[in-house]
Amino acid sequence: MKVATENIAAENLAPTIRQLPPGVVNKIAAGEVIERPASIIKELMENSIDAGANRIDVHIAKGGIESIQVTDNGCGIRGDQLELAVASHATSKIVDADDLFDVHTLGFRGEALASIAAVSQFTLRSKTHDADSGFEMQITGGVTNEIKPCGTPNGTTVIVEELFYNTPVRRKFLRTTQTEMSHITEAFTRIALANAHVHMTLIHNDKTVHDLPSCENWKNRIADFFGNEISDSLIAVESEESGIRLGGFVVDPVHSRAHNRMQYLFLNGRHIKDRSLQHALAEAYRGLLLHGRHPIAFLKLDMPADRVDVNVHPCKLEVRFQDGGKLYSQLLGTIRNRFLTTDLTARQAISQPPETNLPPTRSPYTQDDLPLQSTQRTTDWTAAPATPQFDRSHSGDKFSEPFPSQSPKQPVDIPNDGQQWHEQVHSDFGSEGGLISSPIDQGAVSDQNNRALQIHNRYLVTQSDEGIVVIDQHALHERIIYEQLRQKVLDGKLESQRLLVPEPLNLAPAECSAVIEAKEELSTIGIEIEPFGGDTVLVQAYPAMLANHNPGEMLRNVIEVLLSADRKVEQRDVVDELLHMISCKAAVKAGDKLSPEEITALLEHRELCQDSHHCPHGRPTSLVFSREELDKRFKRI
Ligand code: ADP
Ligand code: MG
Repeated sequence: MKVATENIAAENLAPTIRQLPPGVVNKIAAGEVIERPASIIKELMENSIDAGANRIDVHIAKGGIESIQVTDNGCGIRGDQLELAVASHATSKIVDADDLFDVHTLGFRGEALASIAAVSQFTLRSKTHDADSGFEMQITGGVTNEIKPCGTPNGTTVIVEELFYNTPVRRKFLRTTQTEMSHITEAFTRIALANAHVHMTLIHNDKTVHDLPSCENWKNRIADFFGNEISDSLIAVESEESGIRLGGFVVDPVHSRAHNRMQYLFLNGRHIKDRSLQHALAEAYRGLLLHGRHPIAFLKLDMPADRVDVNVHPCKLEVRFQDGGKLYSQLLGTIRNRFLTTDLTARQAISQPPETNLPPTRSPYTQDDLPLQSTQRTTDWTAAPATPQFDRSHSGDKFSEPFPSQSPKQPVDIPNDGQQWHEQVHSDFGSEGGLISSPIDQGAVSDQNNRALQIHNRYLVTQSDEGIVVIDQHALHERIIYEQLRQKVLDGKLESQRLLVPEPLNLAPAECSAVIEAKEELSTIGIEIEPFGGDTVLVQAYPAMLANHNPGEMLRNVIEVLLSADRKVEQRDVVDELLHMISCKAAVKAGDKLSPEEITALLEHRELCQDSHHCPHGRPTSLVFSREELDKRFKRI
């Protein structure tokens, strides 16, 4: 008996190995390449570019879930090759393994068409320029129908319908039309940016989303997608180092985003993501952007094909550079040098309130800030890349101080040795003996007992039992407003200001869908919007708290919060994020001169806060320098 059991167990442990049929292999491969409709747009458009097309038309129905059609006027496919084109690992772009390290086309794996055809009802129509007629091939239910001649213009049309009809799990993962459409638009944008010379159109449900004529000047294509505000702020960068050419634009730091999705990087015409180069970009903007903000850039890298391995990622989104370190320093050095020679004064004047009386500087960098001089281009920046995080400990809080190097001297010099001058949460503020009265005796407030000194128009210095208290006026005010707003939202009493004339706002498609999807959440914080056709929305009402702010600008900030929020975050969290944003906008800024009454009001409200010690972003609102520490440092004890 025992033996028999063992046999069964052994049998169970050794299943039969089978060669999978091609249909299954293709489905597995498709899983890697074809994640959603946008992946198909990418693959098909790349094929059109590889075919030398100068016109590509993309028609989508229902976010690509119903159908996708890509038509180009490229070289076409011969009738006798149609079947091969959809066979897996069949390509005209490479011949042998050596070619893998010298790829000059976007495609080379010969997998895309096979993968797409494996998970959809698929039609391929093509005509080469020298043929009298075109040919059509259909693959339905995995079966290739007879290839027939057909009338079709020079070039290729691929039609993909009923995507994932035979992979229900994949189909279930598809999101709303709007979400899929925003992915498609992003894929389209990347390819359109990389190929400005190609006339491209994107049509969704018979409505034209983009019609981009061929253009010589890259700026125009950037403007097509991101508007004149961005394209007018482009700063051209260019350099060439040992055969690697870097060109394109960075955007004036006056424009930034809460996410890094507006950092477009193209390598030999292919859109890529590269963390190291993104880091270099962030480094180049160090000190120019507020904490949590990301630069906008459109950069092209061109290098000999054998200096980069593009065969490391199924969608070829990531690549491996032969000398990543050099590239890092080239990018960082080029942009930094460009900033050094760029007059950004106007921008500083805008973002720095006039009361600060800081001397205008030509460039936000001083020579000391800039370890990389033009003569030192070969410095290896990968060796010790500084973190892009702002360091609070020795140069003040840069959240509210975009240009630290401007200030000749920091208002409060907090040494870096946290042991002696510790950042501490003060718990008994306003208690007996303190200079600040408790809320109860506010009626009797006099100059003596509720006094704080405003320093450098950004810090309030006062005293408590314990020692000297330095308050960050912006952080505290932000906290106060946030708590008030949150209470009002909870009570359903947030005042909203209705606009006499609703303000139309032109958005990118992804932004438009995000804001429309969040319409309900937005109304809980007093923002009312209406779709207005195309990618335009109307702002009809917005929080009264932000009366001094431009509604359009306010909505753009809202959109950033929405787009940067994880899709799965709870609605409550999105609202909370938005409240943070509103409080930050509405609060006094570092640099704002406060009247004695305003200072008193701030100190009073500080008492009433549930958490007066941290701003909504979690930074402290005050620091305490204890009397004991002071005594020690003055060698009294
Ligand atoms: P790859 O692009 O990696 O070669 P694909 O599966 O995307 O693989 O395409 C297979 C082949 O079909 C290509 O190598 C190319 O020869 C041909 N092909 C695909 N799309 C087009 C097109 N739009 N125009 C011309 N030829 C095409
Ligand atoms: Mg391809």
